[in-house]
Amino acid sequence: MKLPAPITELIDQFEGLPGIGHKTASRLAFYMLNIPQERLNRFATALSELKTKTNRCSRCFNLTDTPQCSICTDPARDNSLLCIVEEVLDLVGIEQTRKYNGRYHVLYGRIDPLNNMGPDDILIPQLMKRLAQESEDIKEIIIATNPTMEGETTAMYLKKIIDEYAANHTLTIKISRLAYGLPMGASIEFADYGTLGRSFENRNSY
Ligand SMILES: [Zn+2]
Repeated sequence: MKLPAPITELIDQFEGLPGIGHKTASRLAFYMLNIPQERLNRFATALSELKTKTNRCSRCFNLTDTPQCSICTDPARDNSLLCIVEEVLDLVGIEQTRKYNGRYHVLYGRIDPLNNMGPDDILIPQLMKRLAQESEDIKEIIIATNPTMEGETTAMYLKKIIDEYAANHTLTIKISRLAYGLPMGASIEFADYGTLGRSFENRNSY
């Protein structure tokens, strides 16, 4: 049997998403045929505005629909703490723990020499630029990259350049690294919030 083109198109689109096979894609498409048009329109609007109305925060590069994100504009946040993460989803996970009240910097990746990803291919230059503007306030930098080979490589590189920066500017910046209750190779994004919360509380000097 040949399905109507709009249905096969929707099935194809669902099937292109991670973790969704043909069977699930078909089930979702037929499910959507049965929901009210008004809800479908809201779904379509959310999809079409997903990228056009979202941009990166000019300060920390978190995702936002205003020039600066809600964390950067929150005056109750502690300016003396800066947490560096690989991806926005890591920030989201850390926020869920409610153990951290400082600022963030999102790198959008990790140093990965095997895949030709160097420090300048992620937002490390932007981090250093920011440090030049904000380092008077920053007392501690928490490196929250993943406990993977690439995450460790990135953490070591960050520690080296931040230490050099602090020494050159006669600043004292404590550098810490999350204490993982996680096995090597695991990722922050998928950690349960309890484990992640403990890791944050028990972070080590680095
Ligand atoms: Zn921000």
